[in-house]
Amino acid sequence: MEDGTLCVHAEGEHAALEELVSWLRSTAPHDSVSDEPARVEGHEQFAIRGQPAGVFVVQEHQATAHHFDVRLQVEGVMRSWAVPKGPSMDPAVKRLALEVEDHSLTHNEFEGRTGGGAVIVWDRGHYEQGGRVPWPEALERGHAVFVLHGNKLRGGFALQRTRGGEKPQWLLLKRRDASARPGSDVVTEHPESVKSGQTLEALLAANPHQP
Ligand code: MN
Repeated sequence: MEDGTLCVHAEGEHAALEELVSWLRSTAPHDSVSDEPARVEGHEQFAIRGQPAGVFVVQEHQATAHHFDVRLQVEGVMRSWAVPKGPSMDPAVKRLALEVEDHSLTHNEFEGRTGGGAVIVWDRGHYEQGGRVPWPEALERGHAVFVLHGNKLRGGFALQRTRGGEKPQWLLLKRRDASARPGSDVVTEHPESVKSGQTLEALLAANPHQP
C-alpha cells in the first residue's frame, strides 16, 4: 500500500484463512496485523470485477478422439483448448484442457460434418475476464479466471496451466459460486446443440460419411 503496509487478499476455506491470519500474527509485532472480510459479489470472488471481453463458444467435436473445444475471444482471435471430457459445473471436478491453435471468430458458427467426424455448437455466449492480472498476460502467466454467460455454462471458471512447452496442458475448473452445481454432469445432462437442438450423435447418424 502507499503507506508502506502490506495488504494480502486471500481466498479459501474459512479454517485455512484463520490459519493464515494466525500465522501472520505470529510473525509480526503485536497488534500490527488486522484482518477484515472482503465483499463477495455473487459469482465474483475476485478483488476486481470482470471486464466484458467478447464471446466464447464450446464446440463438441468428434474427430479421431471425441472432445470439446473451448474457445475464448482474446485480442481478435479465439484462444482454444481441447477438453476431452468437456466442461463441468461441479467445482470438485478438474478437467484436462489441451491448448490448441487459435481459431478465427468465423469458425464459432460452424456446425456440421468434417470428413469422418462432426461438430456441434454445444454452448456459446459472452464472457468477462476476471482476476487481478489483465489479459492476455493472465494467460501468458498460466492462470486465468473468467465468468461465462452461456446457455449451459454460467458463472466463474478458471484455467490453470500445469505444463508448459510445445503442447501446454491446463486444468479447467468451475469456481465455487451461486451457479455451481455440485455432483452434476452438464455434458451428459445437456448434450444438444444450442444452435440447432440436435446432438452430435444424431448429426453423425443422420448424415453418414460418404467416403
Ligand atoms: Mn477439435
